[in-house]
Amino acid sequence: MSLSDKKNNKDKLSKSKLGAVNPRAAEQFLQKKKRSRSVEDFVKGIIRGDRMMLSQAITLIESTRPADQNKAQKIIEACLPHTGNSIRVGITGIPGVGKSTFIEALGKHIIAQKKKVAVLAIDPSSSVTKGSILGDKTRMIDLSSNQSAFIRPSPAGTSLGGVARKTRETILLCEAAGFETILVETVGVGQSETAVHSMVDFFLLLLVPGAGDELQGIKRGIVEMADLLAVNKADGDRQTAAKRAQKEYRNALHLMPLKNSGIHPKVLTCSAIENKGLNDIWKLLNDFQRLTKKNGFFDKKRKEQSLFWLHEQIGNGLKDFFYKNEAIKKRLEKMEKEVLEGKRNSFNAADELLKMFLNKKPS
Ligand code: GDP
Repeated sequence: MSLSDKKNNKDKLSKSKLGAVNPRAAEQFLQKKKRSRSVEDFVKGIIRGDRMMLSQAITLIESTRPADQNKAQKIIEACLPHTGNSIRVGITGIPGVGKSTFIEALGKHIIAQKKKVAVLAIDPSSSVTKGSILGDKTRMIDLSSNQSAFIRPSPAGTSLGGVARKTRETILLCEAAGFETILVETVGVGQSETAVHSMVDFFLLLLVPGAGDELQGIKRGIVEMADLLAVNKADGDRQTAAKRAQKEYRNALHLMPLKNSGIHPKVLTCSAIENKGLNDIWKLLNDFQRLTKKNGFFDKKRKEQSLFWLHEQIGNGLKDFFYKNEAIKKRLEKMEKEVLEGKRNSFNAADELLKMFLNKKPS
């Protein structure tokens, strides 16, 4: 829908009853209009790089309505031949490390190279605490107004698996829309890095100088996942501390075995605020893409990730199917009680429930 169509529709609505605009009715009317758009319209729009169409298609991915989900799946399928042509970069670090400042600065740097950049986020806190650590709309103001950028906050969801799936599908649509760099932001706490790691080609860990590992909430596993460590805020009187942190991390990384990519992770310093060190990071990203495409790791990893998500989805689907079954729900409640009271052993209870479920499964 063009902007003028939108305006006309709103005008039509505004002329109804007493001339008052009911924003909710207007929104519902526009939603209905959007929903009536065909799969083909969406696909064409996305492939020509229309950010509005892309955004609306992602809304379908995020919708809980079966009809929307069905449409979203058709759009994704049709876009698949146009996907894959990007570098997918995961960016993590504790809150306050400078992720959004860094992403905005790097995004602008990428756009200056005449490339398009999409910024997505995975923030499981938005579903748990109802308040999100990432992705609030006031961030990255400059970048979001740029035609070559596309920014989407973390999808809401009841499980990390669900949020991760939506993000992975969103990546595909962004690629079909011609975004060659996809930055996926996540917080450096909890399980979300593992989910992001299994959907990106390159994983960047942002750090700040002067805080020990403990303070930064960094688990060894996250450092091991990283393809690059960048010590941000290397400016003003923090420069010496940043250099020291760089040296310490370099020493620590030295003890780690060579990564499957064949490329040893580097530790760089940068300042997102002063735009320092970003070019080195961008160059390193491009070198990584070139080298891993050459040694076959890039394609191998993407194939492995596709299989990982296939199995992940089967697992999640089966679980959903099981837990949503009414008969199982009732039986499970009883079983839980019996297990808690020590009348039953957990394994035996699980076996019985599974057997019951399999017998009931529609053929
Ligand atoms: P996030 O929570 O990781 O997304 O962090 P933000 O990007 O919101 O930044 C947290 C704070 O650190 C803000 O006050 C930023 O202005 C500041 N900050 C971010 N990058 C830099 C930097 O390179 N240098 C300095 N000195 N401050 C920075």
